[in-house]
Amino acid sequence: MDPVRATEPAGGVHVSETLDTGFFRRWMYATADAMAREAALLTELDSAIGDADHGINMQRGFAAVRAALESDAPDTPGAMLVLAGRQLISTVGGASGPLYGTLLRRAGKMLGDGTEVSRERLTEALRAGVAAVAQLGGAKAGDKTMLDALEPAVEALDESFAAAREAAEQGAAATVPMLARKGRASYLGERSVGHQDPGATSSALLVAALVQAAADGGSGEAS
Ligand code: ADP
Ligand code: MG
Repeated sequence: MDPVRATEPAGGVHVSETLDTGFFRRWMYATADAMAREAALLTELDSAIGDADHGINMQRGFAAVRAALESDAPDTPGAMLVLAGRQLISTVGGASGPLYGTLLRRAGKMLGDGTEVSRERLTEALRAGVAAVAQLGGAKAGDKTMLDALEPAVEALDESFAAAREAAEQGAAATVPMLARKGRASYLGERSVGHQDPGATSSALLVAALVQAAADGGSGEAS
């Protein structure tokens, strides 16, 4: 019996649990694909409670991440995430650039020099990254931000990638009835209620890309 399946039954996805640089590359590329594919949706959400740039911000930022990884190719997962974070900070004008940049940079620093990491270690690193996002932006759970998707996703990542994706999607959906307390949407006060937060939505895409990276690795066909 495949021991990997025994530890990751959710959805029958064949998931590799030892995460190498190939996994992290696939994660970042799958994220770039998702941000490009969903740019119109993210911008539409941001037009309701922000300034209609979240889709273009995410598309541009992760396209820069992809370009940097193609030309530089760091040889550890930690260095890849640090490079990705730096690209987001330097190429995205909106608040989301420094916030996502901080998430990936802090997580990358936590991973250190290892060439392979376990899912448990990635969970710890992302937990530290999410804490750094909360510190930088001054937001907490329930404020209708990306944290409402990221925090539950990291807790669920202890269990599996699939559980993290589910938690992030539920977390993003749960922002609809919330009143925004941070970022541009907070300027709208009560009028922010009834719309899904764009950043929580892009966070769900980032987490969903983890599942794709794991599944692609398991099939031996990185795309
Ligand atoms: P901007 O708001 O500068 O136009 P974006 O539109 O790219 O930047 O990103 C908006 C998203 O950033 C919001 O939907 C929210 O999820 C997230 N965000 C904004 N401010 C904060 C904050 N202080 N803490 C956490 N997330 C935030
Ligand atoms: Mg915006």
